[in-house]
Amino acid sequence: MKKVVVIGSGFSGLSAACFLAKAGFDVTVLEKNSSPGGRARKFEENGFVFDMGPSWYWMPDTFERYFAHFGAQVSDYYHLKLLDPGFRIYFGEDDFMDIPANQAELKALLESMEPGSAKRYDDFMADAEAKYRIGMQDLVEKPGLSITEFLDIRVLKGLFTMHLHTPFDKFVGRYFTHPRIRQLMEFPVLFLGATAAKTPALYSMMNYAGLKLGTWYPKGGMGMIVAGMKKLAESKGVEFHFNMPVDDIEIVDGHASAVISGTNRFSTDLVVSGADYHHTDRNLLKSTSNYSEEYWTQRVMAPSCLLYYMGIGKRLKGLQHHNLFFDEDLGQHSTEIYDRPQWPTKPLFYVCCPSLTDENVAPAGCENIFMLMPLAAGLEDNEELRARYRTVMLGRLEKLTGEQVTDHITYERSYCIADFQKDYNAYRGNAYGLANTLKQTAILKPRIKNKKLPNFFYTGQLTVPGPGVPPSLISGKLVANQIIKEYPLNCS
Ligand SMILES: Cc1cc2nc3c(=O)[nH]c(=O)nc-3n(C[C@H](O)[C@H](O)[C@H](O)COP(=O)(O)OP(=O)(O)OC[C@H]3O[C@@H](n4cnc5c(N)ncnc54)[C@H](O)[C@@H]3O)c2cc1C
Repeated sequence: MKKVVVIGSGFSGLSAACFLAKAGFDVTVLEKNSSPGGRARKFEENGFVFDMGPSWYWMPDTFERYFAHFGAQVSDYYHLKLLDPGFRIYFGEDDFMDIPANQAELKALLESMEPGSAKRYDDFMADAEAKYRIGMQDLVEKPGLSITEFLDIRVLKGLFTMHLHTPFDKFVGRYFTHPRIRQLMEFPVLFLGATAAKTPALYSMMNYAGLKLGTWYPKGGMGMIVAGMKKLAESKGVEFHFNMPVDDIEIVDGHASAVISGTNRFSTDLVVSGADYHHTDRNLLKSTSNYSEEYWTQRVMAPSCLLYYMGIGKRLKGLQHHNLFFDEDLGQHSTEIYDRPQWPTKPLFYVCCPSLTDENVAPAGCENIFMLMPLAAGLEDNEELRARYRTVMLGRLEKLTGEQVTDHITYERSYCIADFQKDYNAYRGNAYGLANTLKQTAILKPRIKNKKLPNFFYTGQLTVPGPGVPPSLISGKLVANQIIKEYPLNCS
């Protein structure tokens, strides 16, 4: 069996490890932190179980397909609940909109705000669904190594219907005029890495994913996905080493021959790095890196964020599982992330309250929340700045929900740019990887293969297909397929 060392146990590393082990490779995963999941780790404190990163379970079909590759299904590892309402948007004091999971109810809500919008919603979604199908079936599964991957008549035809050159905000404006409906449609863009004016309308597929396929919750939290994937990997023979930060790659005769962590040396035939691409390339590979420091300074990063994980010593009213506080201007906050990077003047933020759905993530009578404020990557981060925005977010949360929260906080922990750098070696402390701009899509993304070392590969949210949990699962599959293609005779 050929040996493969996978660096990092985020979703992409776990996925790559599992596909490679299934194909007959001898796989070892080296993870710098003490637990798996990368940005999707969890921690437990005072009876609260906090998911540290992702909380929106979108595109359930991708997870089903992932487990089906291994003859399993999602329900073998965790149980899903459809959230209804999917989420709440606050526009002001006691002024909010709950987004029903049920399509008839959602359309009735839209129609009540803007006559004719229910029909236009159907048209918008028919287009978004077509993009989702083309995107997920034909585009996302390409390794992005050559333009020829896209020279297929079906793919080319699909590309022409994707509105690659239509700005997202203009596209939404063709269907809806009510500002609240437009905000509903444009909010996913906040995390994609550009303002709605600079994001291609192809990403209306996210609206299909979020509003039509629904917002789900894995009982026990998002950490259950990680635990399930790790269990599956172990059943295929993958070996895990935690607290094992890789600090060097040994190169012999133009090949990566071993992965080094302190005094530990793991000899190997192949390496896949699921650690942040910039860290792998510039800090571990150094002279054999794919890209220069200058290349990286020219990349557009998706946002980082400020997070507060909080245990609340009482039950809260006025919240749903997912809550968007959009009582300030989306355009201004986006500009302060992407065009004039700075700590936001009037931030929008998001509050997750999973204990409303799941009694296992907080002690009885308590609530588990986290507050998340998107922020430009690479900004200064210190305790004073964090505390200032803690006050802003808590003040708005209390005002808009009409409930005292601050005096009932029994546990809290903040997390921001410096933590992303320290814990994940994240370039400029990014949370969501590389921005989804056209110039950073498909073959224009950092490539999955090293140009100088034939046996060194990359996976994860900074390479194809991009950020998010479902794309990270696919990224692991893409790199595994590439290796299986290049080393077919060596698989048993
Ligand atoms: C706060 C937040 C909220 C999010 N919300 C959502 C959401 O709701 N829905 C969604 O779909 N996506 C969401 N995302 C995005 C999603 O979490 C990521 O796209 C995905 O988890 C990235 O996986 P990855 O494997 O590429 O990277 P990572 O998860 O970062 O994994 C990389 C791993 O490599 C390890 N590593 C780094 N350097 C080394 C080294 N030298 N040696 C060994 N190991 C190393 C790291 O410790 C880490 O475990 C969110 C992200 C964040 C941060």
